[in-house]
Parts: sequence; structure tokens; C-alpha cells
Amino acid sequence: MGNCAYCGFEGKLTREHIIPDWYDSANSADEGEIFVEKAPDKIVKSDPKVKDVCATCNNVVLGQLDDYGKSLYDKYFCHPVYGKERKKIQVDRRRLIRWLLKVAFNSARANKADLHVLNGYAKDIINDGLCDDVILFCSTVAPSLEDGGGWKAAHRQDASSSIPPNAFRVGVFRLPEVDFYRWSFRYVYIDSFAFYLAIPQRGVELNEERKHVIKIMTKGSEFGVRVLSGTIDTKPPRYHAANVTINHLANFPSTYGVVEDPWVVLSNKGNVDILHYAIMREDIEKEDFSGVLSFIDQQLVTREALMSSLGKVEFSVYGYESDSRDLWEIEEVRRFLAVLNGQRPYWLVFQGAEPGWTQVLLFCLCRLKKESYGFELTHKEDLKGLMNQWFSGLNEISNRLAISYELNKQLSDRFGEHVKLMRV
Ligand SMILES: [Zn+2]
Repeated sequence: MGNCAYCGFEGKLTREHIIPDWYDSANSADEGEIFVEKAPDKIVKSDPKVKDVCATCNNVVLGQLDDYGKSLYDKYFCHPVYGKERKKIQVDRRRLIRWLLKVAFNSARANKADLHVLNGYAKDIINDGLCDDVILFCSTVAPSLEDGGGWKAAHRQDASSSIPPNAFRVGVFRLPEVDFYRWSFRYVYIDSFAFYLAIPQRGVELNEERKHVIKIMTKGSEFGVRVLSGTIDTKPPRYHAANVTINHLANFPSTYGVVEDPWVVLSNKGNVDILHYAIMREDIEKEDFSGVLSFIDQQLVTREALMSSLGKVEFSVYGYESDSRDLWEIEEVRRFLAVLNGQRPYWLVFQGAEPGWTQVLLFCLCRLKKESYGFELTHKEDLKGLMNQWFSGLNEISNRLAISYELNKQLSDRFGEHVKLMRV
């Protein structure tokens, strides 16, 4: 028993496929593959399900939506779209959006991501409601051909030797300079067809941002054409199967999909290894930032790189062990950390479970004095300023590398705990 994720009523819950099960049977085992991107280093080939849908919603309402998806699949999606080809397809736009939303919502629940946005659509999905606030784009992906000089988009005459994009993928993408908290950006790839949904949080005024989102997606040719009516007239494919896969793996975050819920990876690893970076005294004395900056930047190159260090880097300052002063009392350390903090205020992204480094930073970056009972901040605004700066840093990286809202929150909460422990 539990509450249905769609209608909200309490009842016996059934399993619902994230990827409609007709896709599986429509594709023989060695051809079609279902990918759900569970973790950055693992694209899991599986048949994932969620178990939070009541029988009525599952079998009747959502079943009908899936039937509609299947009819589009049989008619259009199962046919590869080759290089230079345009496709004109006829859809019931609102039903298509509801079906894609359903697929996205199921995947999001399995990953516990973006639910504060997507829950707002559950009722409309099952009640034939209007979802006209959802922005939908569609593009196509060609099969790939290896011609000795590497992979390229296959044309129709190459059909027999080409590899079509046979996969059903669901995932997340991000757009630059858009508040990811207010939106859920989801893609659904079905063989040659790629759909991109920009889903605004409901009940929030987003008119200006909406214009911005449409502008970016219209400009970014990878998103294809905006779906505004029942006719989708696609542009020729810009990508082919192999480079979509490569883009996935390379995690090109502002365009192609990125994987969900990195927290799973971290927790699956159990006692995660801590990455340790020591800032050396001689670097501090020489004011040489190159080492630490390049370390930080390496972690931020791709989403994958970040996922292996997110929430588990312990920084330290090394070389002052014989100095009787505390680090925060040493002027050159304070100066060094202040400059570093100005250049890369991303500590919340990296901070491990231990509060040590947060403490060093706060002590070195705030003005404080030692009292018999502990430390006192002489300028409360120092702490406030740093917190603003660090939360912005976390949000900036979250946006750039598609960190889920939930994970962002866990990192923020961790920082809150660290600060509380210090009783500053
Ligand atoms: Zn229900």
C-alpha cells in the first residue's frame, strides 16, 4: 500500500516500466537496447521499473498513453532517418507531450530528481490535461557508418552497412544560464528521434526565463525544431548514432544528455575513498597557485571527472606543523586562501564529510579573534558574504555539470552541518 505517484490515492501499488515494455519486444535482444543512465560510469542495460503507480493509473490511463507512443513508434520512430533526410510526421501534440512527460517523470522518480517540478504535472498526465507550458523540441539522429576514416552519418544508400541508433534513452540536459531549480530539462531518445522537453516549475512566474529558454534551444541546432503543432517537420540529422554515444560518454552537458543521480555512484562505493589535496607551504610562500588551480580545474572538466571527486575532496595546508600559530593567524596563509577563494569558490562541491577544511577556510577568510571560550567573528558580514559566494559557486557548477537539485541540496546541507559544528 502507498500513494500513487499520479492520482495520489492510496492503494496497492504496481510496477510500471520506465521504458515502455513494447519497446523491448519491438526490438530483438541483439538490436534494440534500453539504456537508463544510472551512474556516470555505468550506462545500465536493463529494464528498470518504478513501483509507485496504482493499478488503475498504470493499466488504464498510462497504458493508453503508451499505446499512443507505440503507434508513433510503429509508424515513424522505428524507421531510421539517414543523413540529409528530413521527416514530416503527424502527431497529436498534446498526447505526445503527455506521453514523453510520463516517461520523463517515471525516470525522474527512479532517480529522485526534479520531483518538485515534475510532480506538478502528474494529474495532467493522467487526466488528459493541458501541458502547453512544456516546451518541446525534436531532432533526428542518423545511423553511423565506418568508412575507414572514422565514423560518419550514413546516407540511405549505405543502409546495409550502417549502424542505426537503436536505443531508448531517458536523461537530463542543462542549458547555460538558466535556473535549473525552476526547470526540469529532460530528453527522450527513441532510435532516430530525439525529443527535448523543457518543463517549467508550475506556480512560479517564469515568463522572462521562458523566452530565454526558447531562444537558447532555437539557436542550439542540436535541439532541432520546436514542436508547435501536429506536424513535425524535422531538419536533417545533425548527429549520428556514434557521436551521440560519444557525446553521452564525454558528457557534453549543455547539449547532449547527462546521466542522473550521481549520488548512487558515491553511495554504491560504500566507504568512498577520500581525495586529498595538500596545499604546500612553498607554494604559499611563492604565491604559486598553479598546482591547486589545475587540480580544481581538472575536477571540473567534465561531469564524469566531477562525479569521482564530488563531496570527497579534503584539502589541507601542509608545512606549518612546527609553527606554534594556528593557520588562521598566519598572514601569508590567509592571503593565499583569500586569492584562491576568489578564483575558485567551489568548496561546497568538493567538501567531504569531515568539517576540517570548511573550518580552516572560514577561520582564514573571516576576521576573528580568539576568546577564552573559543573564537568570535568580529565581522558577521564576512561569514554571510562567504556563504553567498559559496552557494553561488555550488549552483554555478551544478548548472554547468548538471548536478541534480537533490544532490545540490545534500551538499548544501552538509555545509550547514559543518558551520553548525563550529558554532560561529
Ligand atoms: Zn493512480
